[in-house]
Amino acid sequence: MTFDEVDEMISSHKEEFLEQLFTFIRQKSISTENEGMTECADLLKAYMEESGIETKIMQTEGHPIVYGEMVRDKHSFTLLIYGHYDVQPADPLDQWVSPPFDPTIRDGRVYGRGTGDNKGQLMAQLLGIKIYKEVFGDLPINLKFVFEGEEEKGSVNLPRFVSDNQELLKADLVYTADGSSHYSGSPLILLGARGMLSIEITVKGAEWDNHSGNTGNIVPNPAWKLIDLLHSMKDENGDVLIEGFYDYIRSPSEKEMELLRQLPFDQKKIGSKIGYSGLTMDGESYYRKLTMEPTFNISGMESGYTGGGVKTIIPATASAKMDIRLVADQDPSYVYDRISDYIKEYDPDMEVEFLGSMKPSRTSADMKIVDVVTNVVHQAYNTKPLIQPSLSGSLPDYVWTSILQTPSIIMPYANFDQRNHSPNENIKLDSFFGGIKCTCTLIERLGEYDKSFEK
Ligand SMILES: [Zn+2]
Repeated sequence: MTFDEVDEMISSHKEEFLEQLFTFIRQKSISTENEGMTECADLLKAYMEESGIETKIMQTEGHPIVYGEMVRDKHSFTLLIYGHYDVQPADPLDQWVSPPFDPTIRDGRVYGRGTGDNKGQLMAQLLGIKIYKEVFGDLPINLKFVFEGEEEKGSVNLPRFVSDNQELLKADLVYTADGSSHYSGSPLILLGARGMLSIEITVKGAEWDNHSGNTGNIVPNPAWKLIDLLHSMKDENGDVLIEGFYDYIRSPSEKEMELLRQLPFDQKKIGSKIGYSGLTMDGESYYRKLTMEPTFNISGMESGYTGGGVKTIIPATASAKMDIRLVADQDPSYVYDRISDYIKEYDPDMEVEFLGSMKPSRTSADMKIVDVVTNVVHQAYNTKPLIQPSLSGSLPDYVWTSILQTPSIIMPYANFDQRNHSPNENIKLDSFFGGIKCTCTLIERLGEYDKSFEK
């Protein structure tokens, strides 16, 4: 068996593969507007069945999940592939150079809604499997597929689905091709995501806004009270002073720190990208703070009068919204309880409200399977991938690592400038065909991998 055959196979089938992607993109599937969802799920099911994948459409309380299996035997390695067939709405339509649901090739890219996020990447995986079968014959591993239709509306029913179907979904590794490769053009492997906790703190004073002269020094000012509270929660170094806030945080391993040090860092470039020229830290601190440490962020505050001119009042209320990014293995409800306890003890009249949360995830960079995937990507793209132990933002990756208790690796196939969620979304032809090759190589290598290595 040879990988030249894979390359040949891809180049001789380019037209056919693109046509399949085009048909998939032409089928609208806008989850937030409930447009074309069942039609798209049916189309996806048909593609999967064509590749010999046993497929069923599984209902949720929202849009259905397309589930597929290709099982050879219980003892072989099982790879679970996750992706989503829903897309973002296409507006503003007048900013598209070509119509969003009529895929068009320009300058080495396919333009259309969903090309990058996520239909192009999803299709590359299905085609990678198809090619493997045609070049090498039977698959050396078991495959399972979870393609959801609600990623663009927050994956609201995915945690429940995974939790209800743990036996069905049992796997050795979850593999996701979503997101973008690194801005330098290098492939990027992600081993987790930060979690999130959103809260609102409300402080009340008098029953209504009062005249600041007639009641000044008499009625307490909730804005000052809120500021005093917030000030007491953090010291001048930025460390959170709430007892238990840092409990259960997993320290980065030697290897994870080594990976952080290898990530490209250009202080000036990053500064201009984020509109902040005051950045003064080294790359290691930058990535450690972004991936291995929680945040304690005030995202908005509201109190009193902020319009033009002057209004002399003592406000009746003051409130602050906070979003707190969490890292492995912090638990949002535990952290919420610690904050709530702190505030109750500080002043029992202050209120705190839970607004939402997502658990963090992290797959250990020390696992052998991470090396296997890294080598696959290196070989498929002829470029050494960058490995980031965690995404700085949040993704529902915890459904795999925490609910299913399975390692999870995210390997984006789309180019950095895919413009997902924006007009003129695209995927480079090289990225699409590269994804096909990467999937095919992954299956081959996982077939040789002995999963008892991890034990
Ligand atoms: Zn998206």
